[in-house]
Formats: sequence, structure tokens, C-alpha cells
Amino acid sequence: MQDTKHNIAANQIDIESRIQKACDQVSRNRKNIELIAVSKRQDPERIQKSLDNGIRCFGENQVQEALARWQPIKTFYPDLCLHLIGSLQSNKAADAVSLFDVIHTIDREKIAKIISSEMKKQNKQINCFIQVNIGCEIQKSGIEPQFAVDFAKSCINDYALPIIGFMCIPPANEDASPYFAYLNKLAAMAGLQSLSMGMSADFEDAIRLGATHIRVGSALFGDRTS
Ligand SMILES: *Cc1c(COP(=O)(O)O)cnc(C)c1O
Repeated sequence: MQDTKHNIAANQIDIESRIQKACDQVSRNRKNIELIAVSKRQDPERIQKSLDNGIRCFGENQVQEALARWQPIKTFYPDLCLHLIGSLQSNKAADAVSLFDVIHTIDREKIAKIISSEMKKQNKQINCFIQVNIGCEIQKSGIEPQFAVDFAKSCINDYALPIIGFMCIPPANEDASPYFAYLNKLAAMAGLQSLSMGMSADFEDAIRLGATHIRVGSALFGDRTS
């Protein structure tokens, strides 16, 4: 029996048409939105299928899992772009800088400092987002919204980090739109161009509210293994 949820090619077509529709609604160009395929805890077969279908931009939330998966095959896909979308511990900073092309989760001074010094050490500049705890939730990482603009300035001026924008994960089981709008406003205040927001359940809203990077996992690959 055909398992349609795992039909990556069909999912990809569906997601693309939804992205295009959301773009059309607000007169945005599809080219200004990066679709990040979130491959965390997915079956290697499904990931291979997505690579075969031409997907090159992936998101992972754990440094070790990402290393195990991508390090062995990275050289076969020179145009691969790996995004770290999960929170970062300082003892993983060296591995993170060496594997990833973009980090979405700079959220405190200690991490800003160590990522900055790793970039110098490895002579590798990688674009970063600052993660904002947009709903001020105790269990979530991210800098509090009221400190986000100053923190962005400090990351750029004190640590010379290439900060390109803000990232958020809005509270679950709520309309995400007000949080997306808030993140957009904060980015404008900080003079930042990029917004990493929107997942399987809400990427169209995120696009309508200015997302430049959407992070889509289960809608593309199907359910994750736990
Ligand atoms: C897992 C994850 C996603 C993808 O979630 P889906 O609902 O499967 O699309 C996006 N962003 C972050 C930070 C994640 O950890």
C-alpha cells in the first residue's frame, strides 16, 4: 500500500504550491523565501529521496545527530546548505561551526562569544540568526523580546558576528500570526533583513508576515521517529 505521507515528491509539490500561493497573496517573490527541509529524526531513506529530488537545504536541531548524518555524505553534495535550528551548547560550538552553513539559535552572550571565537579559529564566517523567545515561555530558549534589538547590536558590534535576522518558535496551540508580526517588527527595529519563522502548520502565515526562511519538517517528510 502506498504511504502518501511519505511520498516526498508529492509533498514537495504541494508545499511549493502553498508557498507560491502565500507569496501571491502578499505580492512577494518566491525567490526571497528559503525552504529549509527539517530532517531531524527522519529516516535516511526519506532524506536520500529528497536529495534525489534536488533538495539541498536542510535543518537539524542537534549537532551530534547532524554530524553523524551529514559528515559522511557532505562531500558528495557540494551545494548542500545545512542550518542549525536547535539550541546550542558551548561544548558543541566547534562542531557546529565546522558542519553548519547557517546558525539560527544565537540566544545568549556566552554562545555569541564562543561562536565568534570559533569562526575566527576556523577562519569560517557563517550567517547567524538570533533566536527570540517570542512568547516569553519558560521552557523555550531564546532571548526575551525586549532585549533582542540590543543583543543583536552587541553580537554585531562586540563579537563581529554576521547576524542576518531573528528566528522564533511561537507558543504551541495558539495562532502564530501575532508572534510572527512581532518578530517582523523587532527585526525592522534592529535593521535586520531576514526572518526565520514558520513550520509545517503555519508557514503560509509566516510568509504573509515576512518570513525569509521557513523550516518545514513533517509536511515534507512525514512523521518523525521519536
Ligand atoms: C522540528 C522543528 C521544525 C519543523 O517542525 P515541523 O512541524 O515538522 O515542520 C522547525 N523548526 C524547529 C526549530 C524545529 O525544531
